[in-house]
Amino acid sequence: MIYHNIKRRTKSESLKLAYKNNLRLTNNGGNTQRNKDFFISKNELIKLYSVMTKYQIAKKFNMSTNLVSKWLRKYNIKNNKRIGKNNPHWKGGIMFDKERKLIYTPNHPNPDFLKKYVYEYRLIAEKHLGRYLKSGEVIHHINGNSLDNRIENLYVCTQSVHVKIHHKKIECEHGNI
Ligand SMILES: [Zn+2]
Repeated sequence: MIYHNIKRRTKSESLKLAYKNNLRLTNNGGNTQRNKDFFISKNELIKLYSVMTKYQIAKKFNMSTNLVSKWLRKYNIKNNKRIGKNNPHWKGGIMFDKERKLIYTPNHPNPDFLKKYVYEYRLIAEKHLGRYLKSGEVIHHINGNSLDNRIENLYVCTQSVHVKIHHKKIECEHGNI
């Protein structure tokens, strides 16, 4: 048997080379695909992770959140988000978590995110109720649009009622606040 002396690059060698050249392997021949490996410098990832969630970074690079976690571990990057106005990427106190809007509310007793952000629909409901929502209370968006936080689109209910609404066992056509 003849052994060819041609050395093929292994995947990890290719990735190392890409890293050395600071290339970002964010797509494969123009076809974006999930779960691919990517290279991004440690500093760049630190910068992104200081203002974005893992989910947001994953979405930006069209990859799985697990892969982002893997790179954060690999670079030994800890979660040290600088909150609020101390953050150089301060955007006026508005953030988005998937399709839900969060507002910077540093003194809220029950924050939803990073200890200082509260979902906008909760703040709107609480303002109209004149009190904070109780721990078992959740908000349902009547028309299904989680960014439509008009008071008439919000329905306050318990988690179990919320599940029934989504399984169409309970009708809810009007806001109840
Ligand atoms: Zn709902």
